[in-house]
Amino acid sequence: MRNLSLLYSIDGDEESHDRVRGKGNFRRSVRALGALFERRRSLGLPLPMTVMSFVVCEWTSGKVETAYAVARELGVFGLNYTMRYFLPQQAGLDYERELQDHFGLRSSGAWRGWVAPAHERHDYTEAAAAMERVLRRRRFRLAPPYVFALPRGLRGRRLLQYFDDYYEVFGNESCFMPFYWARVHANGDMIFCPGHPDVIVGNVFRDGFMESFNSEPAVALRRHVLNNRFPICNRCCGLYITYAGRSNERRARKKLGLDGRVKAWRP
Ligand code: SF4
Repeated sequence: MRNLSLLYSIDGDEESHDRVRGKGNFRRSVRALGALFERRRSLGLPLPMTVMSFVVCEWTSGKVETAYAVARELGVFGLNYTMRYFLPQQAGLDYERELQDHFGLRSSGAWRGWVAPAHERHDYTEAAAAMERVLRRRRFRLAPPYVFALPRGLRGRRLLQYFDDYYEVFGNESCFMPFYWARVHANGDMIFCPGHPDVIVGNVFRDGFMESFNSEPAVALRRHVLNNRFPICNRCCGLYITYAGRSNERRARKKLGLDGRVKAWRP
């Protein structure tokens, strides 16, 4: 109760949220958040730091500005717009080949969940314009909800380009995720790519945490991503949230004598 911060997924208003998450879920979520806020007030505590997370995708793209109004009404601290992650089918197939050729591994096939024909057919022009309006308005507003957007720093036509042009990575040439982040599954398996449990670098129950983190497969994967971008990386969160590790990446490159050139995929 006392040490709490929440990243809370709300996909716009009742209509769009229930469309994505099932009927009745919007009201249940809002009620739960209200009950939590009430409990904190009754304990004389400030409200928990709550960030509403809204994914801009083909199901929610008409609700970008509505989401801001909902966030204000809920009284949350922040609103995080995450532009949906995705990949084209060919990228997945070529990734499978790279995995086999370079690591001798078979893919789990999880990448197939990132291919979405409905998204590929969708026109994001209005969603991108609405995001631009919200981000511009935010500059003049010094009260919650504070607005964040991922990938950060995209404005104007680049917002639309994010959805339409898979090859543009906006200067994010390589992923630094495997150097400072890990996911441990319930069975102890450790991976570095959150949506792609293909390169399992160790098992914390069997090998220990640090042994897994610094295992041979872990080092092999790090070496590979310093020089290559997997076909599936262009619209993976890893590429866009690792900016915090860029200074470490520069240091690592310097130490290893790498010039920063990264081999990127083209079909
Ligand atoms: S961007 Fe690529 S290397 Fe980084 S986490 Fe995603 S799939 Fe893995």
